[in-house]
Amino acid sequence: MRYNDSIQTIKGIGAVKAKYFKALGINNIEDILTYYPKRYEDRTVIKPISQLTIENLETIIGTITNVQETMPRRGLSILKVLVKDSSGVIELDWFNQKFLKSKMSIGSKIIATGKIRASYYRLSMNNPEFEILDQVAKDFVPNAILPVYSANERITQKILRNTMQEILKGIKEVPENLPVEVIKKFSLVDKITSLQEIHFPKNKESLLIARHRLVFEELFLIQCFLVYVKKINSTRHKGIKHLLDSKLSQAVYKMLPFSLTKDQKKAWCEIKADMERDIPMQRLLQGDVGSGKTIIAILSLVKTVENGYQGAFMVPTEILAMQHYQVLIGLLSQHKIKVGMLVGSLKKNEKEAIVLALANGNIDIIVGTHALIQENIQFNNLGLVVTDEQHRFGVRQRALLQEKGISPDILVMTATPIPRTMTLTVYGDLDVSLIKELPPGRKPIKSFLRTPDKRSLIYQFVLREIEKGRQAYIVCPLIESSEKIDTVSVTDIFDELSSNIFKEVKCALLHGKLSKDEKDTVMKEFYCGNIKVLVSTTVIEVGVNVPNASVMVIEGAERFGLSQLHQLRGRIGRGEYQSYCILISHSNSKDTFERLSVMESVSDGFILAEEDLKLRGPGQFFGMRQHGLNDLKIADIFLDTDTLLQARLAAAEVINDTLLFNKFEPILKSHYKEYWENINFC
Ligand code: ADP
Ligand code: MG
Repeated sequence: MRYNDSIQTIKGIGAVKAKYFKALGINNIEDILTYYPKRYEDRTVIKPISQLTIENLETIIGTITNVQETMPRRGLSILKVLVKDSSGVIELDWFNQKFLKSKMSIGSKIIATGKIRASYYRLSMNNPEFEILDQVAKDFVPNAILPVYSANERITQKILRNTMQEILKGIKEVPENLPVEVIKKFSLVDKITSLQEIHFPKNKESLLIARHRLVFEELFLIQCFLVYVKKINSTRHKGIKHLLDSKLSQAVYKMLPFSLTKDQKKAWCEIKADMERDIPMQRLLQGDVGSGKTIIAILSLVKTVENGYQGAFMVPTEILAMQHYQVLIGLLSQHKIKVGMLVGSLKKNEKEAIVLALANGNIDIIVGTHALIQENIQFNNLGLVVTDEQHRFGVRQRALLQEKGISPDILVMTATPIPRTMTLTVYGDLDVSLIKELPPGRKPIKSFLRTPDKRSLIYQFVLREIEKGRQAYIVCPLIESSEKIDTVSVTDIFDELSSNIFKEVKCALLHGKLSKDEKDTVMKEFYCGNIKVLVSTTVIEVGVNVPNASVMVIEGAERFGLSQLHQLRGRIGRGEYQSYCILISHSNSKDTFERLSVMESVSDGFILAEEDLKLRGPGQFFGMRQHGLNDLKIADIFLDTDTLLQARLAAAEVINDTLLFNKFEPILKSHYKEYWENINFC
């Protein structure tokens, strides 16, 4: 049995079962061995029900004595299962998971893990993790730590455990991804032992040691890739050496309508220094919404123009492109810098004119959407690429734009507060500048979480703000009509509000399906204050800047992640007025309410992003999917920070040591097959 043999080489697995394994992402032996347990059942610590501690996470084993389904109100069903052991009774409750009922038969043994709560007359667990121990005698191993995998109907826990055991018995050799030098230096266990122990640990200590090794390996490979890409980028191509700031840059800087904050100045210095080196800049500019990244982008674009190059500014939406375009025109046309805009919905002849002007150098700075990376777009002399709101673009798209010049400098801007550990994992190839402070004079936004029965009060409040001269956003989640169950769609809300409470007020509707002209008009009218209420989907999420807007109501808030809510909320609180954000949650779940209520007290985007990560896992985080390097199988961005830092150090050592690297290169290459040929422009 070898590492990349198909799963069908295992006894008892034929074509049919293989298909079901495939649904779990398992095709060969390697896949299954790295199908790590999502948790363990520590049967060494199962407690009698009478000795459970309220609020603790505990595991119990007992017999099902009663199964009951109730529907306290429409849309909510509760499955109550009573479980008894020799010491007492506990109630297990599942919400809206009717399908579980068929699994719960009276008399079966069940093992369940969850947080212990006290209801009126007995202990309970809400939505516990569980497993039915149907064949008690065979399955029940006291004093053991058993793996629990993500199983499905066909590939059950038992099949996974048995297959895993079979393979671990049969396999002779597994390829070692870590260089021996690294294994020695960091005192790691060998691969086969760590696999053995991660699936069937002897005890907790050996499990931790095994896990550490596998986490290290996973992070080490990613870091090697990122460090390698960075090295290639900085050594293989010579970049553009921009000269020190001269008249044009200085003039633009002097004419800025405000002075830069300390953090902005620092970021600008770092960017300038990068641009003045002959190594291509690869920098990430991170700054919370409203921290003033745009102006930094503009200064760097001007610098490249001053040096005789063109600058490209790529943004994710047309609205944002238009807004930046206007700001650029406002600041730069007096300095004779020619600014153009390219978005998908321009008319054919308008596009052609822009394409031509770009190719022959008649445009100095181009702002645009994805339209900029189309094949027919050519630059005369591209010196700097700025991408705004990076989480909307993949590495690949950034690279495609970069390819349109000869090693241009790259500035990636993101308002998504990416936790530091994640920056290292995902953007390890970029240097980071951070803008932490907001421009002076901003009042913190007051945020409130409310239930739908308060809607009329909320909208009366909005009306009063409008009467004071302010403007408001009403944001609705984007919903396919098929799932229009209990959340209201943007059109419904618009119709309702504009014909009732806001009858006397100018309202407008904004969503992705409008044509560019329509969007354009709406945004302009909102920008100049004619439209007072903008009912919108999340198209306004990124970048839009209307300082007079001071209220935002977010309908269906439960459908958003905290980071996304924070981005949305960042559209208000941009001017001198006290701003208010009201989140309306349509969810009955207490957990959801708790999650959303964090928005009331926390205004730091970084903290919210970390909360998101904790709750939703890194896979759910913006843009991670696009990156392609995201599929962390075992490492945890929060728990494994120390290991990450070690792995990063080790990676740098290996990549920079020619002898070591020569030995290691084939491993790295085979691990990143799909990326290898594109590595030049990663
Ligand atoms: P973001 O970082 O979200 O892209 P913007 O660049 O849109 O933020 O800036 C938000 C607002 O703050 C804009 O209206 C901008 O003109 C203003 N601004 C930026 N920097 C400063 C500053 N140093 N002082 C005052 N206002 C500033
Ligand atoms: Mg911005």
